[in-house]
Amino acid sequence: MYRIGIGHDTHRLTEGRPLILGGVLVESERGADGHSDADALAHAVTDAILGALCEGDLGVHFPDHDTQWKNADSLQLLARVMWLAGERGFRVVNVDATVMLERPKLRPHVLAMRENLADTLGISVGCVSVKAKTGEGLDAVGRGEAVTVQAIVLLASG
Ligand SMILES: [Zn+2]
Repeated sequence: MYRIGIGHDTHRLTEGRPLILGGVLVESERGADGHSDADALAHAVTDAILGALCEGDLGVHFPDHDTQWKNADSLQLLARVMWLAGERGFRVVNVDATVMLERPKLRPHVLAMRENLADTLGISVGCVSVKAKTGEGLDAVGRGEAVTVQAIVLLASG
């Protein structure tokens, strides 16, 4: 059996915070604000898996008000959700994600992001796609105020 899931995440960008995407620290004037490490790519992929499992979203499993998730490594949260998927008898077939960020350019970091996600998901890097786009100077992404990620995953049982 196959299950498909979609994930979406946005974080405000602010000075004095690190910018972490897919577990990669990206050198940037502004980082992502948030309770955990604010890794929007890891969050969107995690939400997509939870969606495929019909298990709610990240906020249900790792609430903002719970201090144990403050500055949490979001790849560890993803690993916990992978454990849940395994309990339900599902594995990830592939992931496709689009990161929308005005600057800096993400292309030099994309392979490391794919490798981190693939390691956490237990699949080959050839099954994890990460694409980078800008906001073309428009909207909150385009003004450099936000990072937004969309992700889709396919799960298979057995
Ligand atoms: Zn998030």
